[in-house]
Amino acid sequence: MPRVIAHVDMDAFYASIEIRDNPKLVGRPVVVGGPGNQRGVVAAASYEARKYGIRSAMPMWRAERLCKQLVRVDGNMAKYTHASRQVMAILRSFSPLVEPLSLDEAFLDLTGSELALGEPRAVGLRIKDEIRAATQLTASVGIAPVKFVAKIASDFQKPDGLVIVEEHELESFLRPLPIARLWGVGPKTEEALQTLGFRTVGDLADAEPGRLERHFGENGRHLAALARGRDERDVVPSWDAKSYSHEQTFARDLTDREQLESVLLDQAVRVARRLRKDGVEGRVVQLKLRFADFHTISRQVTLPHATADADLIFEQVRALFREAWEERAIRLIGVGVTHMQAEGSDNLDLFRPPEVDSRKRKLADVIDQIEDRFGRGKVTRAKTLKVDEIEDTGTPNDRSFD
Ligand SMILES: [Mg+2]
Repeated sequence: MPRVIAHVDMDAFYASIEIRDNPKLVGRPVVVGGPGNQRGVVAAASYEARKYGIRSAMPMWRAERLCKQLVRVDGNMAKYTHASRQVMAILRSFSPLVEPLSLDEAFLDLTGSELALGEPRAVGLRIKDEIRAATQLTASVGIAPVKFVAKIASDFQKPDGLVIVEEHELESFLRPLPIARLWGVGPKTEEALQTLGFRTVGDLADAEPGRLERHFGENGRHLAALARGRDERDVVPSWDAKSYSHEQTFARDLTDREQLESVLLDQAVRVARRLRKDGVEGRVVQLKLRFADFHTISRQVTLPHATADADLIFEQVRALFREAWEERAIRLIGVGVTHMQAEGSDNLDLFRPPEVDSRKRKLADVIDQIEDRFGRGKVTRAKTLKVDEIEDTGTPNDRSFD
């Protein structure tokens, strides 16, 4: 039985929220992001702004040059996170299998839900209606038997779109698309494929068996399968995603905030280092606390983009800690990062110029290299120094964070 997978993607999410909250912005070219003279980047552009060729990730000064009447609004993450939670809660009411990709998009596995929910088109419409009723925002939905096709389909009739691709339509839907639309075809692979004369997904589907494999190895076989709409990847709900974590149990309970936060910083540094070593980044940061009475809690926050940056992880986990701690005595404390993806698959930090990130990343790489050669702790941030005063009786658990 073919699977039924939906991809739900909010339309111009941040910009639409700003327009919703300020009626004066309706119908005007609106962008969200930092000021152009401070190297700000466009985080989101309204559809009116897009008419001027303005796109996400564009430097703000360039966007301002393209459109004189452009209205720029500073980003408000708290507002976007709130709307995101509303959307994700609605999606989870349709299926327990929801895989968020970012604040404003997610996959849902609806396989087998026809009896309870109805035909895919009816379900798609209901999802859109419920999102609109709760948030006054529009979403575009793609539904297909294959994940990556659902994602392409949600983008097909934006904004406020609904595109259903059935099993027997898969190949005809994919054939005319440019090869760059396939998952795993980045700029390098695209160039190589172009050189070999491949332009559309149809060209790839028609390729002589073995030709792609000769040029691209295992990846070539995978591309050939994708071009025919064959891809077995499942919707992976957030709770069984792989995670990276570090936790410590203390010899005596700790009550000093500075000391506890020092431990968190050290743990964030260790987790970030392992992420970088494996070439992955995570989008959800978790805190685990066990109090003196063994009561254990965990708190988590979803970032707008994946990260392997120790400072950012620490910043987030410290905020969670300050919210949850209530000055109680702590037995165990831990930092985890989940919702992994390959490093750089969304290295776009929407509220900071990208160069800052890559500089930071380079510094982190240098620290990793030094530590690989000389051992951990040779490069120490001032704030982690206090950690040495604490006896660590816990075993750093490698990949699990319960
Ligand atoms: Mg979107």
